[in-house]
Amino acid sequence: MRRRDPTGTALVAAAWALVIATLMLSVGSRLEAERGLYRRARAGLDGPVESHFSGLGTPATWTQPGPPRVGVQAGHWRIEELPEELRRLRSSTGARFGEYREVDANLGIARRVVEQLRTAGVDAELLPATVPPGYRADAFVSIHADGAARLGARGWKAATPWRASDASRQLLDALALTYSRFTDLPEDRYGTTYNMRGYYAFSHHRCRHAIHPSTPAVIIETGFVTVRSDRDVLFGNPESVALGISSGIMRFLARRDRFAPEVLAVREYPAARVITPGAPLSCHPEEGERLAGRLPAGTMVRPVHRKDGWVEVIVWGNYRRFGWVRESDLEPVGGPS
Ligand SMILES: [Zn+2]
Repeated sequence: MRRRDPTGTALVAAAWALVIATLMLSVGSRLEAERGLYRRARAGLDGPVESHFSGLGTPATWTQPGPPRVGVQAGHWRIEELPEELRRLRSSTGARFGEYREVDANLGIARRVVEQLRTAGVDAELLPATVPPGYRADAFVSIHADGAARLGARGWKAATPWRASDASRQLLDALALTYSRFTDLPEDRYGTTYNMRGYYAFSHHRCRHAIHPSTPAVIIETGFVTVRSDRDVLFGNPESVALGISSGIMRFLARRDRFAPEVLAVREYPAARVITPGAPLSCHPEEGERLAGRLPAGTMVRPVHRKDGWVEVIVWGNYRRFGWVRESDLEPVGGPS
């Protein structure tokens, strides 16, 4: 048995204390900056709420005065309690790798997010797999972690519902920015699936236990429990993972216009037909992006979003084919899609 060198031990302890203090300071100042932003934005929100809507008819917004309300869902948590209409999902217990279970990561992160949001003055609540019918809030974020299906896949990805309001897209942008900053995890840029976009808790047209369409919503896959480097972050540093999410939510809350119904409205687009033979179906709305395939002329598609001359579509009759088509490669065929 070797005797310990007391000076060496003290030095190592001091060095660690310094590292931890520096880390906490940097995280703390980043969080403080978001809080400042949030406070400034909130200062303008007090006062009567209804007056903002005069002449607009029934507001589509969450109109409750007071602090913003945010629902944080721990994915798969108490999944066995899903109601009858979602019975088929009760066995969807999430990804796992040995003893590492996605649901444990989700719950640990979600609890911290709720705590951090409450510290910042937000009325945050932890939600299980079952969402209250027509759930209304200023933001809804569902927290998940992935299991690798593709070789080499790692990192995070986040998505809005298929038919999303501008507010949902703003929430997504805010989260994407802060999540990468706090976790240093890469983005799994081509990993978003149909199931994420069509998540059951988003699907108010199919089930009662889903969010209200005007609730800004995002689902985030925080990383892969099946990939070691991701797992080290998800299970080893859940505090930073949670900060990546809560500061994104605060950023969104601070910048959004709570009283603009058009931001919360979900736009509908008419069905469309491809008019260019072999029209490229791009993974992202950018020139030179990776192609998800090519579409023959005459292919019917359901547009869900429009941006900078691009249209995001789902191929009619084949919901696993989706991506972005140039607006000039499409013609509307009339009627809502
Ligand atoms: Zn999941």
